[in-house]
Amino acid sequence: MTNKLKYFVGNWKMFGDFGSFKIINKINQYISRNKKSKNIKIVLCVPNTLIHFFREKLKTRNILFGAQNCQHYHGYGPFTGSISTLMLKKVGANFVILGHSENRSEGETNKLIKKKIKSALSQKLNIIFCVGETLKQKRANKTFSVIRSQLKGSLENKMNLKKIIFAYEPVWSIGTNKIPKAKELQKIIRFIKKDFRQIFKINKLPLVLYGGSVNSKNISLLASIDEIDGFLIGSASQSSKKFIDIIKNYYK
Ligand code: PEP
Repeated sequence: MTNKLKYFVGNWKMFGDFGSFKIINKINQYISRNKKSKNIKIVLCVPNTLIHFFREKLKTRNILFGAQNCQHYHGYGPFTGSISTLMLKKVGANFVILGHSENRSEGETNKLIKKKIKSALSQKLNIIFCVGETLKQKRANKTFSVIRSQLKGSLENKMNLKKIIFAYEPVWSIGTNKIPKAKELQKIIRFIKKDFRQIFKINKLPLVLYGGSVNSKNISLLASIDEIDGFLIGSASQSSKKFIDIIKNYYK
C-alpha cells in the first residue's frame, strides 16, 4: 500500500443543486475519520452555481472545490454567458478542469485551451489538464502522438507548469465502463510524465491522474499501477457511496 499523496477528483459534470450538499457532507465525514486522510486529496469539481455555497457550508478544508471549464479571458468582459477565472477564484475555486473531451468535442482546440490555461494561471488556480485519444486514434496507433500534440499545443515553457496536474482520460473510456489494460495504461502514464519533462525541460515529473469509468470494482486493478497519482472520477463522484467506496477499495 502506498504512502504517496493520491488525488481523488470528482467531476460532477452537469449535476447537482443545493440539496447535493449531503453528498459533500458524507464524504467529509468519511475523510475526517480516515486514518489515511493525510495521504488523500479530495477535490470536487462541481457546477459553478454551487462552488460558493458548498465552500461556505463545509466548515473544513478536507475537500477543495474546482470548476469544470472557464472562459479564456481572465477578467470581466463582453462574453455573454461566460465565467472567467477571476470569477471562479472569487467564489472559492482552487482548481479548474481544462481540456475535457466533452468540451473538446464541442470544438475546443489546443490553442483555445492554451489561452484558458494562461487565464487560470493568472489567477493562481490549479489546473487539471485532460489529455487522451479517441477510439479512432487509438485504433490508428496514434495515442502517443495525440497526447504529445495536446501537450505541445497547449503548454509553454514560460508557464508556471507546477500548477498543472495531468489527467489521462482516453475518450473511449469516459462513461463506457471500459478501462485500458493495466500494462498499456502504465506505459501511457509513464510516457506523459517523461515526455512532459523532456519537452519542457523540467526536473520534476508531473502528477498524472487517470480518468474514465473509474468505479469501486476496477479501482483495485488501477491501484496496482503506482505511477498513477490519483483519479478523475466522473459519474461515480455524483454519489457519496460510490465515491467513498472507490477510496476505500483503493486502500484495501
Ligand atoms: C470524466 O468525465 O472526467 C469521467 C472520467 O467520466 P466517467 O468517470 O463517468 O467515465
